[in-house]
Amino acid sequence: MTELHVHLDGSLRKETAIALAKEKGTKITSLTVDEDCDSLETYLECFRLPLSLLQEAPVIERAVRELAEDLLADGVNRAEIRFAPYSFCAKDLSPKEAVDAARRGARAAMAAHKGLKIALILCCMRGQEEAPFVGRVREELTGEKANFRLIDLIEEEMDDVVKAADLAGAEALFPTGRYIELFRYAKRKGVPFTIHAGEGAGAKSVWAALETGTGRIGHGVRAIEEALLVDELVRKKITLECCVISNFHTRCFANPIDHPIKRLFDAGVRVTLNTDNRTISDTTMHREIETVQRLFHFTDEEIRRMQAYAEEACF
Ligand SMILES: [Zn+2]
Repeated sequence: MTELHVHLDGSLRKETAIALAKEKGTKITSLTVDEDCDSLETYLECFRLPLSLLQEAPVIERAVRELAEDLLADGVNRAEIRFAPYSFCAKDLSPKEAVDAARRGARAAMAAHKGLKIALILCCMRGQEEAPFVGRVREELTGEKANFRLIDLIEEEMDDVVKAADLAGAEALFPTGRYIELFRYAKRKGVPFTIHAGEGAGAKSVWAALETGTGRIGHGVRAIEEALLVDELVRKKITLECCVISNFHTRCFANPIDHPIKRLFDAGVRVTLNTDNRTISDTTMHREIETVQRLFHFTDEEIRRMQAYAEEACF
């Protein structure tokens, strides 16, 4: 199988997080949301421990290698793992050192497992321009141009593993419209990208993402709010990286059954199945497939069609 949307920090292996926390004397906070997760804050709180651990090159390298193994065990032999390099630079690492460590992890996994293909997507963060950074290289990581500098870094680092940029973070607080220039810049530089939109904010955010010329959107499911927008996604053959169980946990829709993935699929949108945060949402591709078949009655043939969409959308 192919997976397009999985975050490294939200998928740090639980046993590894606990072992490392004990080794370093870090307080062990919750890593997985409960089924009745009632707020985005509870969800975001689960990133605290992984983010505090992923501040050292050997930990980042190990996390990528182990995630690749977990993906393989789940039947995923081609995956694009994403992370925000700046969020790993709160201590001593530079963004380039964080990227190098992740690349080593990906290469080690691919060397150990024939047929496995791992790519990395590096996330710009919404609000990075206002972030109060305390790391060794803090001057690089804040201010209006911080995300532009990350695009420059991606351009320099792009190879057979480092493939593309993304935009992640609080969509409702920092609207997508603010980042159109950033991704036009990426386009001019030849850096491919995807953008989280239509999860924490609605149709307007997806329209703004489309203005960048993106071919992929992370989530995108709230496009369902506007029929014209759904038509546009079909017309432009945009791939949506849907993460259904994650959307249940962040309360993207009032009830799980309200999730529009099947309606989008039936309308002709190229929707794909992804896990988003394997540890935090305690999910796998198998669980995502089982869930959409049970709740939305996708047939095996339709599941295969979504897999084909994912393969075609790889960077
Ligand atoms: Zn995501």
